[in-house]
Amino acid sequence: METQKSFNPATGEVVGEVPVTPVSEIAAVVARARAAQPAWQAMGISQRAARLAEAGPVMEERAEELGRLLTREQGKPLREAIAEVRSCAHGLVEEIADIVHALRPEVVEQGGSRSTIYRDPYGVCAAITPWNFPFSMPHWMLLPALVSGNACVFKPSEETPLIGQAYADILNLSLPPGVLQVVHGADAQGRALVASEIDLVAFTGSRAAGKHILAEASKRLTRVVLELGGKDPLIVLDSADVARAAKFAARSSFRNAGQVCVSTERIYVHQGVAARFVDLLREETAKLTQGPGLEPETRVGPMINAAQRDHVLGQIDRAVGQGAEVACGGAGHRELFVTPTVLTGVRHDMDIAHEETFGPVACVIEVADDDRAVELANDTPYGLGAVVFGADDERTRAVARRLTAGMIGINRGIGGGGKLPWVGARESGYGFHGSADGHRQFTQTRVISEPG
Ligand code: NAD
Repeated sequence: METQKSFNPATGEVVGEVPVTPVSEIAAVVARARAAQPAWQAMGISQRAARLAEAGPVMEERAEELGRLLTREQGKPLREAIAEVRSCAHGLVEEIADIVHALRPEVVEQGGSRSTIYRDPYGVCAAITPWNFPFSMPHWMLLPALVSGNACVFKPSEETPLIGQAYADILNLSLPPGVLQVVHGADAQGRALVASEIDLVAFTGSRAAGKHILAEASKRLTRVVLELGGKDPLIVLDSADVARAAKFAARSSFRNAGQVCVSTERIYVHQGVAARFVDLLREETAKLTQGPGLEPETRVGPMINAAQRDHVLGQIDRAVGQGAEVACGGAGHRELFVTPTVLTGVRHDMDIAHEETFGPVACVIEVADDDRAVELANDTPYGLGAVVFGADDERTRAVARRLTAGMIGINRGIGGGGKLPWVGARESGYGFHGSADGHRQFTQTRVISEPG
């Protein structure tokens, strides 16, 4: 049996291993899900909700242990890993209630007829997830998919199979056999799953893989929900509280070593406040201790793997070669640790101003006015998040309203998820999670009409 090892990116140690699912077995896994689904649907939404709610106390009780596993596999600081687990545990009951509410049948009287709108499960849902939030990403898709009455086949990232398996094991304490199964492996398993007899694929990951999935799904018109990459801008107006903006930028650019889909990667700052902003950002960056996530003072951990590190370092080198200046960081990288780096003098024609970095690099670009800031911020195929810092006034809100991202924060980070849609515009998403509309994407809408 082929196995797949999971490595600690901070130390290189083997954390554990999982059996790889042979591609040839994926059709049988999907068939088992198909066979288990009707009884799961027939159980009714209240019963399904009650079963899934049982996971909350287990997650809470095991939050520290799961957090340690998450940090060992993925690298983020332990407190953030525990918070990731707890966020799923604490919000569970309310989230399930929101999903149940979103899926309730609706009666509509129209033109002398009485109709009921139902939201039925599709059948078998594939959930394919990335490694950067390896506990909460599966949670965001599997919970609405399962409450809706779908059976699920879940493929965690090959970088974080153990925490993915642990998540599924907790849900499976309360689920009938076959309703939630795990497939382990990498792209080949993901591709085979997408090409199999599934009804819906929920995917979070890179834009390139998302495009492949959409093309493959078109063959059978399989439903898709894609949450993809980003290149999020931050605009700092000359009316902003510059110190707050710099604090936010350091947090948003370097959290999880920049391996966050809504990381701040591009900062458009008004010329009048640029020098002060860069000084403060340098100060904030210098406060961030880098090291293994299990060490209590660590704020920035390692890159997930050598390919990601090389990609980030290559982008920095190219940008510097094209004329960018290193305001801080840019050196002292070791093993998989990339020093948090602030680049100034970045021009819009540089690769780093356009390509997703997914690492601890903040690019500062000076702008003369609001129009130019908006124009550059929007000149991207991506559209996940965007943030504006400015005075609490109409000018700041007007800038925010002109941004083409899906989730926009004013004087704070973006606010998507939970009761709000977590939504990527343009090439950052196709469908979305969270909110009643997001939950409904795991269901087939069906209308039954009769004379009124
Ligand atoms: P990735 O696309 O390489 O892999 C994601 C998952 O898809 C993995 O499980 C992988 O094995 C699988 N996969 C890869 N190619 C596939 C294919 N052709 N068909 C089916 N499955 C395939 O992404 P990653 O490196 O794991 O994650 C980083 C990316 O995820 C970044 O671009 C980041 O912005 C994005 N992301 C987006 C969100 C969001 O909410 N929009 C959240 C987290 C991460």
